[in-house]
Amino acid sequence: MASQRSIAIVGAGLGGLVCARILQLRNIPVVIYEREPTPTSRQQGGSLDMHAESGTKALEMAQLLDEFKKVARYEDQNIRIVGIDGTIHFADEELAEGQVGDRPEVDRTLLRQMFLDSLKPGTVKWNHGVSKVIQENNKATLHFLDSALEPVVYDFVVGADGTWSRVRPTLSSVVPEYAGITYIDIFLADVKKNYPDLAAFVKGGMAMVLGDNKGILAQKNGNDVVRVYAAFRKPLAWLDEVGLNSLVEGGKHAEARELLLKQFEGWCPEATGYLKVPCLSMDVRPLYQFKNRHTWDTNPHVSLVGDAAHVTVPNGEGANSAMLNGLDLANAIAENISANEESWLKAIKGFEVEMQRCGWEPDDELTLDAFISDGDAAARAAANMRKLMAMAMAAAGGASH
Ligand SMILES: Cc1cc2nc3c(=O)[nH]c(=O)nc-3n(C[C@H](O)[C@H](O)[C@H](O)COP(=O)(O)OP(=O)(O)OC[C@H]3O[C@@H](n4cnc5c(N)ncnc54)[C@H](O)[C@@H]3O)c2cc1C
Repeated sequence: MASQRSIAIVGAGLGGLVCARILQLRNIPVVIYEREPTPTSRQQGGSLDMHAESGTKALEMAQLLDEFKKVARYEDQNIRIVGIDGTIHFADEELAEGQVGDRPEVDRTLLRQMFLDSLKPGTVKWNHGVSKVIQENNKATLHFLDSALEPVVYDFVVGADGTWSRVRPTLSSVVPEYAGITYIDIFLADVKKNYPDLAAFVKGGMAMVLGDNKGILAQKNGNDVVRVYAAFRKPLAWLDEVGLNSLVEGGKHAEARELLLKQFEGWCPEATGYLKVPCLSMDVRPLYQFKNRHTWDTNPHVSLVGDAAHVTVPNGEGANSAMLNGLDLANAIAENISANEESWLKAIKGFEVEMQRCGWEPDDELTLDAFISDGDAAARAAANMRKLMAMAMAAAGGASH
């Protein structure tokens, strides 16, 4: 192929945005088609910690590390694991000097906006939800949910459209499955100002109160916000049976909080305190994942990054690996943009094989599955956390010799 391939990305989440930014830095034209009507039409979620080998690396390669440092919260990286009776089983105070500090937190909205601001004007076509991708005549055609929008044709399409990707069916028939755990996602505002005890409990980061196949996970965000996940290991039907879905959808937050409090009867007041105060927003989030490693035959016209390729339950890696995928795929594209078919396919396959390997390495002992479990989940989680930290210390020590 002599001329440059034309490239489109579906989805302006972190995976798609990193991919677009790197392509533009490498002078490759790119358009992102995004379903949301505007950059601010949806609440983007809570705090993310950036990992050196993935999220931070993508920020650096995107030449946005200095911008990131202006909004990052290096002081909010602490974790506490607490039993339902209030016993603290693990606290960051146990960590040796130097163990805290390389996973800075950032509010997802700020991070996403930083990438949006870095793109050339008009790169993102808002309100362009893609309904399907048809591959024919050595091209990929995007069709839109809004039938008034004309289909558009590209040489290569990156599916960065998350868990329920409309691009993925071009490559595989796999669909995510309910992971057996649902989060009730609650945002509390002005926490330090109005509820100093709740702010103190979450300290500089995250407090996870675990047990009895449930959890209250409180996460400090910027701007005096605390995000709380009330987590349940329950079948999907339970959400309707107890009326949670209809209460939350109907905006009846006070009644929903009453219902939640009943579920956590007998839990320590530090944890239930988060459910007793009015909230800014509340959402029901059933968690979905691929049960197995997701692979497909490489296609010269379509690939995937992030959750579209390897969604798992939240494990602190999802956004980070979506960013790394965006970086790696953009580099593979840029280096082969005018290459012949064989070299192009080899480059895309090389990216996919590595992504599929890395995107599926669940750590048995520190997964959400292990956290939201029966018996004394907190004590087990704390023991596993210590074991992993010791292994990380040993590895770091070994590497320096
Ligand atoms: C409750 C919860 C907490 C989490 N916490 C963390 C954490 O602390 N750290 C971490 O690293 N990860 C976390 N994750 C995982 C992380 O959110 C995802 O892995 C990450 O957002 C994936 O990025 P992405 O770009 O692949 O997809 P997304 O962020 O889902 O972005 C997809 C984009 O595509 C758009 N889109 C969707 N469909 C279409 C369509 N048909 N047409 C056009 N556009 C479309 C969407 O509007 C969206 O903008 C968490 C996940 C959940 C559910």
